[in-house]
Amino acid sequence: MDIGIVGCAGRMGRMLIGEVLAADGCRLIGAIERAGSDAVGRDAATLAGRKAIGVSVGDDPLALFATAQAVIDFTSPDATAGFAELAAQDKVVHVIGTTGFGREHEAAIERAARHTPIIRAANMSLGVNLLVDLVRQVTAALDERFDIEIVEMHHRHKKDAPSGTALALGEAAAAGRDVALAKAAVRSRDGLTGERTPGTIGFAALRGGDVVGEHSVVFAGPGERVELTHKAASREIFARGAVRAAQWGHGQPPGLYGMREVLGL
Ligand code: NAD
Repeated sequence: MDIGIVGCAGRMGRMLIGEVLAADGCRLIGAIERAGSDAVGRDAATLAGRKAIGVSVGDDPLALFATAQAVIDFTSPDATAGFAELAAQDKVVHVIGTTGFGREHEAAIERAARHTPIIRAANMSLGVNLLVDLVRQVTAALDERFDIEIVEMHHRHKKDAPSGTALALGEAAAAGRDVALAKAAVRSRDGLTGERTPGTIGFAALRGGDVVGEHSVVFAGPGERVELTHKAASREIFARGAVRAAQWGHGQPPGLYGMREVLGL
């Protein structure tokens, strides 16, 4: 399978290059960065600390989407919304790991998914996707006397909060309780907030150092507390999931898919 990577010099981009080069049946056919990036013109493999393979980093997404069968994209919401349109035009599998979308970005991705398979997940790791399922089950089993709080920690460079994964965990908890997350979520607390409103789902975001990603869902009830936690030790788990998603997407009908489908959960 011919795979392209956008945002190839980013933290995830470099990891993805290594993962595509190591994956059976995959070929890295192109990698692009933002125009003006120092990475443009370098051999893509060297960004992942490997020997050159003769694929130079470019800055033209049109050429990449015209030649790739799948494009893996961990960039920014604005960039990803534009790339989804290119994927739709060229019928390329688009694997989206980017987080922090607004409504307009979401709408652009949904429009594009009418024409090509798009696999989008705020977290591509097997463990977190299992955690999402567990949260749905545990929430359904516990009544509203159990307060739900979602705590996440990430490295100091992360741009969005709460993390896309924390929001996905919140969606799972809301689904388990049959409520809409938009109504139940309390995304920040400051000052004289008053007592906790029963049935709400709270979020807390910690930022610092080089933490790859940690998520806990706390169910705090009368006299006892259940905590479900996932800790990512390396970005490799996200890159591995993204390559698996690209391979799974090949030959699928157009549509918007998630990692549940890819992992068969
Ligand atoms: P990063 O800032 O290190 O990398 C992003 C890269 O994209 C940068 O190199 C940037 O120059 C490039 N880029 C931005 N706009 C571009 C454009 N128009 N054309 C080409 N390149 C462009 O960030 P990161 O830590 O690698 O994270 C990227 C995104 O992936 C974030 O939204 C993050 O939350 C998300 N993420 C998702 C998962 C997951 O499993 N889904 C895991 C980790 C990170």
